[in-house]
Amino acid sequence: MKIIVVGAGISGCVCAWRLERAGHEVTLLEKGRGVGGRMATRRMEGARIDHGAQFFTARDPRMLELLSHWQKENAVTPWYDHIPGRPDLPTGHRYRGMDGMTSPAKILAREFRVETRFFVEHIYRNESGWSVEEKGGEGRMLKSDHLVLTIPSVQLLDLFQRSEYELDDFTLSRLRSIRHTRCLAVLGIMDRPSMLEHPGTITHPVDEIDWISDNQIKGISEDPSCTIHASDEYSQKFWDAPDPERIPQLLSVTEDQLGVKITSWASHRWGFAKPVVTFGASHWHSSERNLTLAGDGFGGERIENAALSGWDAADSIIL
Ligand SMILES: Cc1cc2nc3c(=O)[nH]c(=O)nc-3n(C[C@H](O)[C@H](O)[C@H](O)COP(=O)(O)OP(=O)(O)OC[C@H]3O[C@@H](n4cnc5c(N)ncnc54)[C@H](O)[C@@H]3O)c2cc1C
Repeated sequence: MKIIVVGAGISGCVCAWRLERAGHEVTLLEKGRGVGGRMATRRMEGARIDHGAQFFTARDPRMLELLSHWQKENAVTPWYDHIPGRPDLPTGHRYRGMDGMTSPAKILAREFRVETRFFVEHIYRNESGWSVEEKGGEGRMLKSDHLVLTIPSVQLLDLFQRSEYELDDFTLSRLRSIRHTRCLAVLGIMDRPSMLEHPGTITHPVDEIDWISDNQIKGISEDPSCTIHASDEYSQKFWDAPDPERIPQLLSVTEDQLGVKITSWASHRWGFAKPVVTFGASHWHSSERNLTLAGDGFGGERIENAALSGWDAADSIIL
């Protein structure tokens, strides 16, 4: 069967990978330049910076199967299992991508066709199957027998509305109830290595900040660089504020905590960071409509749950 998967986050990549391995002809469409979605890594002035998700867990047997595949490909490595001096935090293995958090998605994406810079503007269904139309760009139009959508719920509902595609009221109301936090992220270049010890992270040093990490100690950057994630509350409050108003406070706390000067920086707004209200099932599937929905808004918070959502979505088509 020809299947189009939309969204190259971990849920879309896992889903496409399993479908391709089951013998389907899969094409994955992604509006961005590469795969990974919120598992995002960026180059800045020679440094490598994870500016979205920081680590993943692997507890479920299916995630352990993915972990083993990534380890064989040398794409992931353990990062830490506890933060020294923080007995209050849960322990357990946290893994990182070998070259940043995009590595695991890149390994999966080697096994199926990927079209990047493809913003899905409209979806249409008729007797012969699905048509998926690109916004602008090359005006690509692809066809498939089955469609899997793994984009965040707000974008999903927008896509349905633009396409005048209707779902039943019960499913729509569950989709509308999905909520994500926001996160204002700062990527910083530091003038010297920080004074943190392994694993190079600080959580919640002040109310305004959820997370600071040192990408050099993490092991993904040769040059000293850091990532700062503001809290949901701070991010909401300063979402539309200009950088000079919202960034200096985050920089100043980080410089104090790390014992460095941040010589240059960039900001990034994650509009859908972590789900706080989910759909209530790991995915949604309709064999009558040949349509399946997945992502962390279904599976729940954490990369592992998003990956398992993609896995379950694939199985609902395969089995
Ligand atoms: C700042 C931050 C920190 C986090 N930290 C952690 C962490 O440390 N550990 C952890 O386990 N989880 C963490 N998370 C959560 C984790 O990143 C997510 O739960 C997970 O990556 C979601 O994967 P996904 O496939 O559901 O969605 P996404 O990764 O968002 O993928 C969806 C994809 O769809 C694409 N898309 C959207 N609309 C369209 C369209 N119309 N056409 C084509 N493509 C489209 C997007 O570009 C995107 O690539 C963090 C998230 C953020 C933002």
